[in-house]
Amino acid sequence: MIEHTVPSAANERVRGEREPGESVLELDGVTRSFGPERAVDDLSLSVYEGELLTLLGPSGCGKTTTLRLLAGLDRPDEGVIRVDDETVAGPDRFVAPDDRDVGLVFQSFALFPHLTVAENVAFGIEHWPADESEERVTELLDLVSLGEYGDHSPDDLSGGQRQRVALARSLAPEPDVLLLDEPFSNLDVSLRTEMREEVRNIIKETGVTAVSVTHDQEEALSISDRVAVIHDGSVEQVGRPEVVFEQPESRFVAEFLGQAGFVSGELAAGAVETDLGTLPADVIEGLGPEYDGATIDVMVRPDDLVATPADEGAGEGNGEIVHRQYTGPSFVYQVGLDGGDVVYCEHNHADNLALDQRVRVDLRVDHPLAWFPAE
Ligand code: ATP
Repeated sequence: MIEHTVPSAANERVRGEREPGESVLELDGVTRSFGPERAVDDLSLSVYEGELLTLLGPSGCGKTTTLRLLAGLDRPDEGVIRVDDETVAGPDRFVAPDDRDVGLVFQSFALFPHLTVAENVAFGIEHWPADESEERVTELLDLVSLGEYGDHSPDDLSGGQRQRVALARSLAPEPDVLLLDEPFSNLDVSLRTEMREEVRNIIKETGVTAVSVTHDQEEALSISDRVAVIHDGSVEQVGRPEVVFEQPESRFVAEFLGQAGFVSGELAAGAVETDLGTLPADVIEGLGPEYDGATIDVMVRPDDLVATPADEGAGEGNGEIVHRQYTGPSFVYQVGLDGGDVVYCEHNHADNLALDQRVRVDLRVDHPLAWFPAE
């Protein structure tokens, strides 16, 4: 049995018979169509005890539909959903939302304006004995640092505070799984980064298994234990943030998770001749001699490359700047290489290079590069 340590004794409880690493939530071949469109298409995924997994993908890829299916707000056409080994949706069975051990934090927070903060948090545990409910509300308000705000109206609170109340309300009944629908989309940009860390800390302190949904790759990479990249209704890749970012298994994942440039070339005699020069095969992930003669595209991210002005000791250079984007702390330069490939170089904002300037782009990496068969 696993005990999850949270701030007070009353919150120290046992979440079933699971060990860390056992799956709490399983989707097996889940499909949901709207007319001819398969919004969720044969999607399979396991979510493990105590982890925070984020479903990440572009608009319309099926994230929200998947979350609704998990919550029981919608029913799959095919496939099975299990929570804690119990089938909650399948061909012959459908468990209503209220009867699932699943909490949901809505994008809008959906707090009741006519109830106090404490009453909002108590909403899902009204059937508990009064003293236990009161104790639970107190410990949750402490957990989300709103101990002094129990008798306030939600209208008196800031966006970040309202989000914490919504989180406390969903955690109150001690769900097996917490679902978060675009949890930061209703917050000011300046508050988002702060709240990401705070929400993650609260979730981790309770030990609850959580599934979040977002289209924001930075958010997904920064808060999650694992990220499931969704494309056209199914899982394209699932893994730890650094793995999906550094070792994407498809071009879709590579391009969705931040800017990706590609240089192409043929593998011959243990090296690939590219617009960036000769790349030894051993700097390219898993590129063994069995691929000899293959033409491949090697992925390079903006932070893998450095552009030096051609007139500053960099010879004639190997390309020119075709676009520049100022982001505040940095410039991202798009460089058209002489052989036709296009790459991105991220520089400190002080490195001010001009449009059309000739540069030499060099690779500066200490990790293996991902590659794909040439298109
Ligand atoms: P977003 O990030 O924009 O919310 P999403 O990845 O969450 O997108 P979904 O909302 O799950 O995507 O929608 C997936 C597809 O299913 C979309 O093409 C959408 O138009 C369609 N869809 C979703 N719900 C319905 C519905 N109730 N009726 C008809 N089509 C729907």
